Amino acid sequence: MATADTAPPDLDAGFTGRLIRPNELDYDEVRKIWNGMIDRRPSLIAQCGGPDDVVACVRFARENRLLVSIRGGGHNVSGSAVCDGGLMIDLSQMKGIRVDPTERTVRADAGLLWGEFDRQCQTFGLATTAGIVTHTGIAGLTVGGGIGHLMRKHGLTCDNLLAVDLVTADGDLVHASPDKEPDLFWAVRGGGSNFGIVTRFVYQLYPVGPEVVAGLIMHRAERATEVLRAYRDFVQHAPREVGTVVNLRTAPTLPWVPENLRGRPVVAIVVCFVGATAEAEQVLEPLRRFGPPAADLVMTKPYLEHQSMFDATVPHGWRYYWKSVSLPPLTNTAIDTLVATAWRKRSPRSYMILFHKGGAVRDLSDESMAYTGRDAEHELNINGAWTAEDPDNDDTLWVRESFERTIRHSTGGVYLNFLGDEGRERVRAAYGPAKYERLVGLKRRYDPDNFFRLNQNIDPNPTSGDSRQESV
Ligand SMILES: Cc1cc2nc3c(=O)[nH]c(=O)nc-3n(C[C@H](O)[C@H](O)[C@H](O)COP(=O)(O)OP(=O)(O)OC[C@H]3O[C@@H](n4cnc5c(N)ncnc54)[C@H](O)[C@@H]3O)c2cc1C
Repeated sequence: MATADTAPPDLDAGFTGRLIRPNELDYDEVRKIWNGMIDRRPSLIAQCGGPDDVVACVRFARENRLLVSIRGGGHNVSGSAVCDGGLMIDLSQMKGIRVDPTERTVRADAGLLWGEFDRQCQTFGLATTAGIVTHTGIAGLTVGGGIGHLMRKHGLTCDNLLAVDLVTADGDLVHASPDKEPDLFWAVRGGGSNFGIVTRFVYQLYPVGPEVVAGLIMHRAERATEVLRAYRDFVQHAPREVGTVVNLRTAPTLPWVPENLRGRPVVAIVVCFVGATAEAEQVLEPLRRFGPPAADLVMTKPYLEHQSMFDATVPHGWRYYWKSVSLPPLTNTAIDTLVATAWRKRSPRSYMILFHKGGAVRDLSDESMAYTGRDAEHELNINGAWTAEDPDNDDTLWVRESFERTIRHSTGGVYLNFLGDEGRERVRAAYGPAKYERLVGLKRRYDPDNFFRLNQNIDPNPTSGDSRQESV
């Protein structure tokens, strides 16, 4: 296998994108991804210009028996977008997008980030469920599921996927939809990058905004227990127009955070109401009244503004280490555990974030596609974040301890896109045994050699040893 210093032979002349080798000036810049912990050196980076380039890459890698990684937005915490040695297939330059406002659909290339995607769709007053940080890639998020502010009203991102163009492990470009290649289409909606490289996604869109009633309700952490109990009671009966995410953290020093709360431990309830603005006040009243809060930043504002609100709290290049669990409706003991663990962290940048699901997420059955976990009420992500300059704030231990405590309250599942590099048993946990077996069968059919293996891997030969370990 090639290492960064033993470059493979060139891709054939048909490649129209850009090839970047270790000796090039911007090699170090291009191999960087979101998580500053990841420092891998591919022997060749192929920045693809279109699907033909992706086909050429897959065929080339097969012929030369190269390890392959696929880079979409480069946001995956495990760093699976970049490999040591081997070929990094970089889709980040493929940014074509075309909205059909009449059909309310969009064709979007795999290199787009959610901010770029949303801006185009909002030109027509449209959107689909996106991630809550705009510098996340549409590709990895969609093939792993996709949860966000709109999911309770409009379903998961993968629920709104109508079709894909995808390059298979054999290097063929195929179109998959409910009518064409239905098994492949079933697998790609939640199966991660195990079944091919998506070059283009087609999504269903909905009228959203351009203004929504959204923002944060902040409480001091001293009141976390009563706040979380009141929150639990509110979301139990909340209509599907109400999307909420709870953040247990240190309030960041950002312009929209009131000065008296900056640097303080807080519970922030992030609200996004996607119904008629006139109804928002009445629906959100119990949540906004409770406490009263230390700050109520809920207001009518552009959907695009709300979507980018948290970008600065998770910038590229910091060190990140995370673990996650799926949770049922919060019990008092689960709340006690969250409150007892959340602020034991060292770093002011670390946090726990709790997404509320339900609503339209439950409209489809778990059998409808590879994505698994519709029954979970919440997805909890415990994110340790620090910088190279403050290594004493390394929160790896806090993440692990918090995980050990919170997993006792979990459904047993985990959201695939919130997994780190945690090995086969955790991937199995994301799907459950029956779904995992079905996916193994499809993997044997579409990728029997496990060509696509730098991912949350579904091993076609599950009796082989699990070579993967924790990333830290
Ligand atoms: C700050 C932050 C916020 C997040 N917020 C949310 C959120 O709100 N909701 C949510 O659901 N998730 C969220 N996530 C998780 C996110 O969904 C995953 O990290 C996802 O893998 C990112 O996709 P990407 O394309 O940016 O990453 P990449 O690292 O480029 O790719 C991720 C995985 O997908 C594979 N892949 C990439 N492109 C393709 C392709 N075209 N075809 C097939 N496979 C491909 C890669 O090989 C890799 O294994 C967040 C992550 C971060 C870091």
